[in-house]
Amino acid sequence: MRGFHCVDPSHDRIEFTGADDEDLFHSIKEHTTRAHPQLTDSQIREMIEGADWWKEVATSGVNAGSSPSAYDK
Ligand SMILES: [Zn+2]
Repeated sequence: MRGFHCVDPSHDRIEFTGADDEDLFHSIKEHTTRAHPQLTDSQIREMIEGADWWKEVATSGVNAGSSPSAYDK
């Protein structure tokens, strides 16, 4: 089981889970389509993988507290 969470001023902390990265991607995509429409599919995949730009965003500023990468639950 893979996990991820999103923290943003526009909503409370939201937890996502998926059987694998692909399943997790779909859960996150469902949320980003509504809450963060500016994020592209490839950006979401980079977030799951823990890209440097996302680690920076996830640990500072308005998104501090978000998961910097997907993790095993
Ligand atoms: Zn969000």
